[in-house]
Amino acid sequence: KLHNENLELKGNIRVFCRVRPFLAEDGSNTEGKVISYPTSMDALGRGIDLVQSGQKHSFKFDRVFVPDVSQEDVFEDISQLVQSALDGYKVCIFAYGQTGSGKTYTMMGKPGDPEQKGLIPRTLEQIFKTRQFVQPQGWKYEMQVSMLEIYNETIRDLLATNRSSSDMLRTENGTAGKQYTIKHDANGNSHVSDLTIVDVRSANEVSFLLERPLIAGKTQMNEQSSRSHFVFTLRIYGVNESTEQQVQGILNLIDLAGSERLSKSGSTGDRLRETQAINKSLSSLSDVIFALAKKEDHVPFRNSKLTYLLQPCLGGDSKTLMFVNIAPDSSSAGESLCSLRFAARVN
Ligand code: ADP
Ligand code: MG
Repeated sequence: KLHNENLELKGNIRVFCRVRPFLAEDGSNTEGKVISYPTSMDALGRGIDLVQSGQKHSFKFDRVFVPDVSQEDVFEDISQLVQSALDGYKVCIFAYGQTGSGKTYTMMGKPGDPEQKGLIPRTLEQIFKTRQFVQPQGWKYEMQVSMLEIYNETIRDLLATNRSSSDMLRTENGTAGKQYTIKHDANGNSHVSDLTIVDVRSANEVSFLLERPLIAGKTQMNEQSSRSHFVFTLRIYGVNESTEQQVQGILNLIDLAGSERLSKSGSTGDRLRETQAINKSLSSLSDVIFALAKKEDHVPFRNSKLTYLLQPCLGGDSKTLMFVNIAPDSSSAGESLCSLRFAARVN
């Protein structure tokens, strides 16, 4: 059993590594040959070793989730962050890794299986439960949800209902018809022009939104969804009716585009442009988190849409958690090593 302990003590950026189980398609003969967990590490499992080309690479993270850790146990370790958002903090939770490593499983879970629900549905359940619990003490909350994807540095609104065909279809140069722009207001919040924002009063209402075809399509492992960043945002406005105290929390759950490198994904035309856009935004994200962790004066938020959008939720006293998702098979070892190095840099 895992425990929540002292996570708060260690700065505002945490990195959790999650290794998914072997799947039939991985080929079972490589099982146990690539990833191992050093026995010398403490009981909470913070170490991971990866062997590639006969060389052992060792990493240490705030948590390492071995393949049989359940969705429920993973959620238990992030539920504190959910509470932080209710308390008025800005929180970002990312899933980083190559396509097929378990990012969407971690965030959304397996459709139709309640035990395998991911962080997004579990978060919503906790929030709406807490909200009912807290209300008698005078707190009233209002919640709003938006969902977007960033594909080729272009934003698409996943909750738009009156989508024009030009909005649905990408034009020849790979951009969507409608140009959503990001603005930052005087209070340090970011806004996306014309983005659909929906008031929600129950976890069911949000589940309903998540089941919209465009979102549901993204939860399946498909080509297109693995090439774009998926950003789920919950805004929480709390007012205490007796003390008139107010809080505004934001919780962002982000299923990042697959981190696989250029050579593996083919490298001409649209594909090349896509890959370059993904590489650019993922390295911008790494640069931003690195600069924040090092408390550098200049944080390069403006280098990608993703970091510019999330800027208000990444600096200051906001809280960031990065999942680095890893596939266990030997043919993924190279990509896994890259992902672990990426995560080690921001940790
Ligand atoms: P990604 O979003 O990174 O491309 P997915 O989340 O789609 O990867 O995972 C790839 C496959 O592995 C899916 O079939 C998913 O259900 C399965 N999977 C991933 N992580 C786990 C896990 N922890 N337990 C069981 N199955 C998993
Ligand atoms: Mg995915």
